[in-house]
Amino acid sequence: MEELLTKTKEELAGLLPDLPAFRVGQIFEWLQRGADFSEMSDLPKALRERLSAGFVAQGCRIEQKFTAGDGTAKYLLALRDGNLIECVFMPHGYGNTLCLSTQVGCRMGCRFCASGQNGLVRNMTAAELLSQVAVVNRDNGGDARRRALSNLVLMGCGEPLDNYDEVTAFLRAVSDPEGLNISLRSISLSTCGLVPNMLRLADEGLPVVLAVSLHAADDKKRKVIMPVANRYPVEEIVDAARTFFRKTGRRVIFEYAMIRDFNISDGDAERLKELLRGFPAHLNLIPLNPVEESAFASPGRAECERFLKKLHELGLSATVRRSTGREVQGSCGQLRRRYEAGRADRGGEA
Ligand code: SAH
Repeated sequence: MEELLTKTKEELAGLLPDLPAFRVGQIFEWLQRGADFSEMSDLPKALRERLSAGFVAQGCRIEQKFTAGDGTAKYLLALRDGNLIECVFMPHGYGNTLCLSTQVGCRMGCRFCASGQNGLVRNMTAAELLSQVAVVNRDNGGDARRRALSNLVLMGCGEPLDNYDEVTAFLRAVSDPEGLNISLRSISLSTCGLVPNMLRLADEGLPVVLAVSLHAADDKKRKVIMPVANRYPVEEIVDAARTFFRKTGRRVIFEYAMIRDFNISDGDAERLKELLRGFPAHLNLIPLNPVEESAFASPGRAECERFLKKLHELGLSATVRRSTGREVQGSCGQLRRRYEAGRADRGGEA
């Protein structure tokens, strides 16, 4: 069945040629608000039934919600085929941020990450991506006019640049001034370093912030934790990030998960300095969020501070990211895995 959420008003009118423009406008508005057809109370019942029979309104439905003391909320969302994805709502003084998933599972296989431990199940569609935003916006009291979300980060499960066409279609739809109208400048897209698609994105005319998951400054170390390092050398990844910055003028952020006894020595800091020489980029340090199945450990606070200090001494711009969401198993893929394990224990019923 065709998904309607990412359609423009003109496209909706083309699909429903017998409807007057005001009806098309009503449907568009309801869809953007996160509503299903059955809730579109100002449409005639027969029209609601006709729409339900032929089209999909929302690709996501809230299955469970976990709220932490700091207001962070983790959502487990069900897709129409029964697959589960997760996203995290983070309230901030400057506006609320939603961390989105872009694929069911992931095929990048980073050793410390829960998302890819069962491989890729499937790509999410642009409409499913937009539905994540619409239903969470609605659950937090927002609608298409008064949004409860101002920032988006594509940092949940999945590799956004491994689902390029749907992700870029989503970015266009979510920033449509007639729709949710979230500024592309308030959206960050995180990649483990798929060079060809980083370069494609630089020419796409989508002024998002690019975040690159670096996690190690040399290929030998990077290969231990990230299989993608076997395809693209870290120098090429940083070059692609430089191209993105040069072409778009948009900031680039490098993400760096600090792992005990692995990537936080003085030597690691010096190699980072060398790699990022002359690049006005920012390093976002995140103490590794320990994942049950992984052999890697998180450093203590003092070790993190020491590494940060060394980077500052070398003249690099770096901050340690406040770790939200641990209480709600906010690290990529942890919630879905736990939930599915529980579901299997209970004999497969949800
Ligand atoms: N696939 C994309 C985006 C998703 S992950 C990417 O690789 O960038 C968002 C960030 O969380 C990435 O930097 C990822 O490496 C990091 N991450 C994954 N698992 C983590 C963990 N257990 N602790 C800390 N960071 C983690």
